[in-house]
Amino acid sequence: MKNAFFPVYKDDGYTILSLNSNQRNAVQVLVSKIRSGKYSFEENSCQCGATSTHDDLIVTEKDMFGIPNVNLLCGNCGLIRSQKVLKENSLSNYYNIDYKPINYNLQDVGAKEYYESQKSRGKQFYELANKYAKPQKGQHIYDMGCGAGGVMHYFNEAGMKCFGNDFSKEYLAYGNSQGMKLAYGDMQANQDAEEDKFDFFILAHVYEHLVNPYQYLKEIFRKLRIGGILIMEVPGVYAESNLNNGYPLSGCQFAHVVNFYNQDFLTAMFEHFGTSVKYGDEHCTFIVQKTENTNFDSKFEYVPKDPQYLAKLKAHLALTSKKYKKITNPIYAKRKIAGIIKGKVY
Ligand SMILES: [Zn+2]
Repeated sequence: MKNAFFPVYKDDGYTILSLNSNQRNAVQVLVSKIRSGKYSFEENSCQCGATSTHDDLIVTEKDMFGIPNVNLLCGNCGLIRSQKVLKENSLSNYYNIDYKPINYNLQDVGAKEYYESQKSRGKQFYELANKYAKPQKGQHIYDMGCGAGGVMHYFNEAGMKCFGNDFSKEYLAYGNSQGMKLAYGDMQANQDAEEDKFDFFILAHVYEHLVNPYQYLKEIFRKLRIGGILIMEVPGVYAESNLNNGYPLSGCQFAHVVNFYNQDFLTAMFEHFGTSVKYGDEHCTFIVQKTENTNFDSKFEYVPKDPQYLAKLKAHLALTSKKYKKITNPIYAKRKIAGIIKGKVY
């Protein structure tokens, strides 16, 4: 379904961010694989579990890199998700070949530098953890999608045992040199990640990439002991616009299964599965505790409590878009000028 204001971005071959030449080349390679049918897709149903018919609204047709990526605002719950996601083989090829050259300028970011860049988010998590659960020396913490492990830096300094997994050997080696136990591959690749072992589990900007999120949550809570804490963060549609992204829909990513969550959805989801929400906000930073009632065997279905929720969300997206798309906004101006100079990316 379309309306007069949406989609905010049409699939027109221009990027939203200003990209360097390596990134532009990598986007071109990916788009040719999508267009030629080398990569295949499947429908992505909404995580609210809606079974009744409702109209989803197309809010954007491309992502921040200019990659064709139709995003739907769910007419039942308001989550914003990719209409289609890559099928299994295409997905692993995408993450092995296309993801890094598009998302990171790898030549410029060495492992130590990347570790240092991760520390600020880690500090925020450490302070939140201290407020709600008091991390202690000798306790175990796991970070799924840990990069160089820098998010666990302050937990490591406090004498905790740090574990994780990810897909960059260079980054992992740096974290391991800091005394962590980080493994290459998915969570199963870390032999030290036993069940009921962990006091803390970090899932920072990973959950939105997962095709079977409830399956992963179940696995993660298996690793936590009862009373253990999940620290999770995903992109929030009501997170304050800042100078890095400027406007929610300009931050959509092809790699995300769901591009934008909200506090109410996540709170309802965690409560449905019998976990205890200690903290949550519209940045979608959550502190969630495993209880004796934690159980992932029943289907989660969600409808916003506020019947006006969808109308308010559309109004929010329209208003923030109008504020963002002004040539007096330095972020928008810079991106627009780069687009004019460099032209279409494909
Ligand atoms: Zn939904």
